[in-house]
Amino acid sequence: MAKQLDKILIIDLEATCWEDKAPVGMESDIIEIGLCLLDVQSGEISDSRAILVIPERSELSEFCTSLTTITQQLLDEQAISFKEACNILKKEYQSQSRAWASFGAYDYKQFQRQCNSLGIGNPMGPSHINVKTLFALKRKLTHEQGMAGALALLEIPLEGTHHRGVDDAKNIAKILKWILNE
Ligand code: AMP
Ligand code: MG
Repeated sequence: MAKQLDKILIIDLEATCWEDKAPVGMESDIIEIGLCLLDVQSGEISDSRAILVIPERSELSEFCTSLTTITQQLLDEQAISFKEACNILKKEYQSQSRAWASFGAYDYKQFQRQCNSLGIGNPMGPSHINVKTLFALKRKLTHEQGMAGALALLEIPLEGTHHRGVDDAKNIAKILKWILNE
Protein backbone atom coordinates (compact mmCIF):
# COMPACT_ATOMS: atom_id res chain seq x y z
CA MET A 1 0.00 0.00 0.00
CA ALA A 2 1.42 3.44 -0.94
CA LYS A 3 2.36 5.52 2.08
CA GLN A 4 0.48 8.76 2.70
CA LEU A 5 3.04 11.33 3.78
CA ASP A 6 1.21 14.63 3.23
CA LYS A 7 -0.32 14.73 6.71
CA ILE A 8 0.83 12.83 9.78
CA LEU A 9 -1.88 11.36 12.01
CA ILE A 10 -0.94 12.15 15.62
CA ILE A 11 -2.48 9.75 18.16
CA ASP A 12 -2.61 9.83 21.94
CA LEU A 13 -4.47 7.05 23.76
CA GLU A 14 -5.97 7.14 27.24
CA ALA A 15 -6.86 3.84 28.86
CA THR A 16 -8.38 2.47 32.05
CA CYS A 17 -5.77 2.50 34.81
CA TRP A 18 -5.30 2.01 38.52
CA GLU A 19 -2.95 3.34 41.15
CA ASP A 20 -1.47 -0.16 41.42
CA LYS A 21 -1.84 -3.07 38.97
CA ALA A 22 -5.15 -3.96 37.27
CA PRO A 23 -7.73 -5.70 39.49
CA VAL A 24 -7.96 -9.47 38.98
CA GLY A 25 -9.89 -10.27 35.79
CA MET A 26 -9.51 -6.78 34.28
CA GLU A 27 -7.23 -5.57 31.49
CA SER A 28 -6.49 -1.98 30.56
CA ASP A 29 -8.87 -0.78 27.81
CA ILE A 30 -8.57 2.25 25.55
CA ILE A 31 -11.15 4.88 26.58
CA GLU A 32 -10.03 7.77 24.37
CA ILE A 33 -8.31 7.97 21.01
CA GLY A 34 -7.13 11.57 20.85
CA LEU A 35 -5.99 12.60 17.40
CA CYS A 36 -5.10 15.46 15.10
CA LEU A 37 -3.41 15.92 11.72
CA LEU A 38 -0.09 17.68 11.10
CA ASP A 39 0.36 19.01 7.56
CA VAL A 40 4.01 18.34 6.68
CA GLN A 41 4.32 21.22 4.17
CA SER A 42 2.47 24.00 5.97
CA GLY A 43 2.89 22.84 9.59
CA GLU A 44 -0.84 23.36 10.14
CA ILE A 45 -2.34 21.30 12.97
CA SER A 46 -5.97 20.48 12.23
CA ASP A 47 -8.90 18.12 12.68
CA SER A 48 -8.36 17.50 16.39
CA ARG A 49 -10.84 15.00 17.77
CA ALA A 50 -11.54 12.85 20.81
CA ILE A 51 -13.00 9.43 19.97
CA LEU A 52 -14.31 8.10 23.28
CA VAL A 53 -14.37 4.30 23.58
CA ILE A 54 -16.37 1.91 25.79
CA PRO A 55 -14.04 -0.20 27.99
CA GLU A 56 -14.99 -3.84 27.28
CA ARG A 57 -12.67 -5.72 29.64
CA SER A 58 -12.49 -3.34 32.60
CA GLU A 59 -14.24 -0.58 34.53
CA LEU A 60 -13.29 3.06 34.90
CA SER A 61 -11.71 3.72 38.31
CA GLU A 62 -11.81 6.95 40.33
CA PHE A 63 -8.04 7.05 39.95
CA CYS A 64 -8.39 6.99 36.16
CA THR A 65 -11.01 9.75 36.20
CA SER A 66 -8.79 11.94 38.34
CA LEU A 67 -5.81 11.33 36.01
CA THR A 68 -7.63 11.82 32.69
CA THR A 69 -10.74 13.84 33.69
CA ILE A 70 -12.77 11.26 31.68
CA THR A 71 -15.91 10.41 33.65
CA GLN A 72 -18.32 7.45 33.44
CA GLN A 73 -21.04 9.94 32.44
CA LEU A 74 -18.98 11.17 29.49
CA LEU A 75 -18.41 7.58 28.34
CA ASP A 76 -22.11 6.72 28.79
CA GLU A 77 -23.05 9.73 26.64
CA GLN A 78 -20.42 9.62 23.92
CA ALA A 79 -18.37 6.42 23.81
CA ILE A 80 -18.53 3.91 20.95
CA SER A 81 -17.16 0.37 20.70
CA PHE A 82 -13.44 -0.17 20.08
CA LYS A 83 -14.30 -1.89 16.80
CA GLU A 84 -16.31 1.12 15.58
CA ALA A 85 -13.49 3.45 16.63
CA CYS A 86 -11.00 1.36 14.62
CA ASN A 87 -13.25 1.58 11.57
CA ILE A 88 -13.36 5.39 11.88
CA LEU A 89 -9.55 5.52 11.98
CA LYS A 90 -9.29 3.35 8.85
CA LYS A 91 -12.06 5.01 6.82
CA GLU A 92 -11.74 8.68 7.80
CA TYR A 93 -8.00 8.96 8.48
CA GLN A 94 -6.50 6.23 6.24
CA SER A 95 -4.69 5.05 9.36
CA GLN A 96 -3.30 1.90 7.73
CA SER A 97 -1.47 3.70 4.94
CA ARG A 98 -0.72 7.05 6.63
CA ALA A 99 2.40 7.87 8.62
CA TRP A 100 1.31 8.19 12.25
CA ALA A 101 3.01 9.44 15.38
CA SER A 102 2.72 9.13 19.13
CA PHE A 103 4.86 10.03 22.13
CA GLY A 104 6.74 6.86 23.11
CA ALA A 105 5.89 3.25 22.27
CA TYR A 106 2.87 2.93 24.59
CA ASP A 107 0.19 3.81 22.03
CA TYR A 108 1.70 1.50 19.38
CA LYS A 109 1.85 -1.39 21.87
CA GLN A 110 -1.62 -0.77 23.35
CA PHE A 111 -3.24 -1.00 19.88
CA GLN A 112 -1.40 -4.30 19.32
CA ARG A 113 -2.34 -5.73 22.74
CA GLN A 114 -6.02 -4.76 22.60
CA CYS A 115 -6.52 -5.80 18.96
CA ASN A 116 -4.92 -9.20 19.66
CA SER A 117 -7.03 -9.71 22.77
CA LEU A 118 -10.33 -8.77 21.07
CA GLY A 119 -9.53 -10.47 17.73
CA ILE A 120 -9.75 -7.18 15.78
CA GLY A 121 -7.40 -6.19 12.95
CA ASN A 122 -4.94 -3.46 13.94
CA PRO A 123 -6.17 -0.17 12.39
CA MET A 124 -2.69 1.38 12.53
CA GLY A 125 -0.15 0.91 9.75
CA PRO A 126 3.57 0.14 10.06
CA SER A 127 4.85 3.72 9.57
CA HIS A 128 4.97 4.70 13.22
CA ILE A 129 7.00 7.73 14.35
CA ASN A 130 8.09 7.74 18.00
CA VAL A 131 8.23 11.48 18.80
CA LYS A 132 9.72 10.86 22.26
CA THR A 133 12.81 9.15 20.83
CA LEU A 134 13.06 11.51 17.88
CA PHE A 135 12.99 14.55 20.19
CA ALA A 136 15.78 13.14 22.39
CA LEU A 137 17.89 12.42 19.29
CA LYS A 138 17.24 15.83 17.78
CA ARG A 139 18.21 17.63 21.00
CA LYS A 140 21.09 15.19 21.65
CA LEU A 141 19.71 14.42 25.12
CA THR A 142 21.09 11.59 27.24
CA HIS A 143 17.57 10.61 28.43
CA GLU A 144 14.17 10.68 26.76
CA GLN A 145 11.87 13.34 28.21
CA GLY A 146 8.17 13.09 29.00
CA MET A 147 5.80 15.21 26.93
CA ALA A 148 5.63 18.01 29.51
CA GLY A 149 9.42 18.04 29.80
CA ALA A 150 9.88 18.21 26.03
CA LEU A 151 7.44 21.15 25.78
CA ALA A 152 9.25 22.92 28.64
CA LEU A 153 12.61 22.52 26.87
CA LEU A 154 11.06 24.08 23.75
CA GLU A 155 9.37 26.81 25.82
CA ILE A 156 6.03 25.80 24.28
CA PRO A 157 3.15 26.09 26.80
CA LEU A 158 1.29 22.84 27.54
CA GLU A 159 -2.19 23.64 26.25
CA GLY A 160 -5.38 22.04 27.52
CA THR A 161 -5.56 19.19 30.02
CA HIS A 162 -2.54 16.88 30.31
CA HIS A 163 -3.69 13.21 30.07
CA ARG A 164 -6.71 14.07 27.89
CA GLY A 165 -5.85 12.34 24.62
CA VAL A 166 -7.16 15.11 22.37
CA ASP A 167 -5.08 17.77 24.15
CA ASP A 168 -2.01 15.55 24.41
CA ALA A 169 -2.23 14.84 20.65
CA LYS A 170 -2.18 18.58 19.84
CA ASN A 171 0.78 19.19 22.16
CA ILE A 172 2.67 16.24 20.62
CA ALA A 173 1.93 17.67 17.16
CA LYS A 174 3.67 20.91 18.20
CA ILE A 175 6.78 18.98 19.27
CA LEU A 176 6.86 17.02 16.00
CA LYS A 177 6.31 20.22 14.03
CA TRP A 178 9.36 21.73 15.75
CA ILE A 179 11.44 18.64 14.96
CA LEU A 180 10.43 18.68 11.27
CA ASN A 181 11.08 22.40 10.84
CA GLU A 182 14.34 22.61 12.76
P1 AMP B 1 -0.79 9.71 28.88
O1 AMP B 1 -0.81 9.71 27.39
O2 AMP B 1 0.48 10.17 29.50
O3 AMP B 1 -1.96 10.53 29.34
O4 AMP B 1 -1.00 8.23 29.40
C1 AMP B 1 -1.71 7.26 28.68
C2 AMP B 1 -2.29 6.24 29.63
O5 AMP B 1 -1.24 5.67 30.41
C3 AMP B 1 -3.28 6.78 30.65
O6 AMP B 1 -4.60 6.91 30.14
C4 AMP B 1 -3.20 5.69 31.70
O7 AMP B 1 -3.90 4.54 31.32
C5 AMP B 1 -1.72 5.37 31.71
N1 AMP B 1 -1.04 6.22 32.69
C6 AMP B 1 -0.38 7.39 32.48
N2 AMP B 1 0.10 7.91 33.63
C7 AMP B 1 -0.26 7.04 34.61
C8 AMP B 1 -0.06 6.98 36.02
N3 AMP B 1 0.60 7.95 36.68
N4 AMP B 1 -0.59 5.94 36.71
C9 AMP B 1 -1.26 4.96 36.08
N5 AMP B 1 -1.48 4.93 34.74
C10 AMP B 1 -1.00 5.95 34.01
MG1 MG C 1 -2.38 11.15 26.96
